[in-house]
Amino acid sequence: MNMKERLLKALKGEEVDKVPVCTVTQSAIVELMDLTGAAWPEAHTDAQKMADLAVASYEVCGLEGVRAPYCLTVLAEAMGCEVNMGTKNRQPSVTDHPYPKGVDNLAMPENLLSVGRIPAVLETMKLIREKVGDEVPIIAGMEGPVTLASDLASVKKFMKWSIKAPEDFNTILDFACDACIEYANALFDAGADVISVPDPVASPDLMSPDTFDKQLKPFLQKFADGVKGPMILHICGDVSPILEMMADCHFPSISIEEKVKDLKGAKAKVAGKVTICGNVSSPFVLLAGDAATVKAAATKALEDGVDVLAPGCGIAPDTPVANLKAMVEARNEYYA
Ligand SMILES: [Zn+2]
Repeated sequence: MNMKERLLKALKGEEVDKVPVCTVTQSAIVELMDLTGAAWPEAHTDAQKMADLAVASYEVCGLEGVRAPYCLTVLAEAMGCEVNMGTKNRQPSVTDHPYPKGVDNLAMPENLLSVGRIPAVLETMKLIREKVGDEVPIIAGMEGPVTLASDLASVKKFMKWSIKAPEDFNTILDFACDACIEYANALFDAGADVISVPDPVASPDLMSPDTFDKQLKPFLQKFADGVKGPMILHICGDVSPILEMMADCHFPSISIEEKVKDLKGAKAKVAGKVTICGNVSSPFVLLAGDAATVKAAATKALEDGVDVLAPGCGIAPDTPVANLKAMVEARNEYYA
C-alpha cells in the first residue's frame, strides 16, 4: 500500500496497514523556508517556491503527504477581497471586502480560474506531482464557503445578515459556494488527490450550533455535492456541539482540534458517517512542546482511534522540524 492509497483509504474509513500521518491544515514552517530558500510571503505567489516549500515537509519531516497553499485567502482575493500578504512568519489576511453594503451587485469574475494567485496554485499542484510522483498524496487547501462568504461581506455584516437579513445571508453563501465548487474541481483537475477545507467562521466560537445546522450545513452539503473528489472539512475550536452536523455535511472526513477533549467519544458519535483527522495540538504541543510531549499526544490520538494522525489546526510557522519528525516517529513506534 503506497502513501496515496493509504491516505485515500483511511479517509474513507477503509482498512489500512497503519494510520497515515500528515498535515491537513496549514503546514509551512520557517525552518523549512530557510532550508529550501522558499519563504513566505513569496511562496504564496510563486508556484515553484510554493511547491518547494510544500515538498520539504514530506522530504525533510517525513510527513506522508504534500500540502499547499498556506493561507485561506487565494479564492477570497480572486473574488475581490484585498489581502495583506503577511510576512515570513505571519499568514496572509483579508483586509477589505467587496460586498459590505449588500448582495445586489454580486459579480463572479469571468475567468475565475485565471484571476489572482489561482493559476499559481494550480501550477503548484503540477510541480508537486512532477517532484514526488504518483504515490505521494497531494493535499490542496482552500477556504470553505462560510469563511469565503464572510470575507466577501466582512465578518461583522455576515453575522448581522445571519440574524437580520437571512435572504442576503443565503444569497452570499450560495454565491461563495459556486466559486468554491469551481475552484475545488480545478484543484482536482490540476492533480490534487484530496482537498482540505478549513472553514473557521463556521466554528461554534462564532456561529451557534443552531445556525450551523439550519443555515450553514445546507451550503456545506451543496459544496461537497458539487465537487468531484474527496474533501476534509476542518472547523476550528471545540466543535463537540456540532460534530454530528459536521458528519452530515457530505464530506468523507473531518479535521478537529484537541479542544474536542473526548476524541474517543467523538469517534463514536460520527461512526459510520465520517472519519476523523487530528488532533495533536498545534499551539500547545507541536509549537511549544518537545519530542516527548509530541509523542505522548500523538500516541493518545492513535489510541483513541484517530483515522489520520495530524495537527489539530494549522501549525505555527515557528514550529520546529524536530516536533513534526517526532509526530511521524510516534506513529512508526506505535506500529513497531
Ligand atoms: Zn483550525
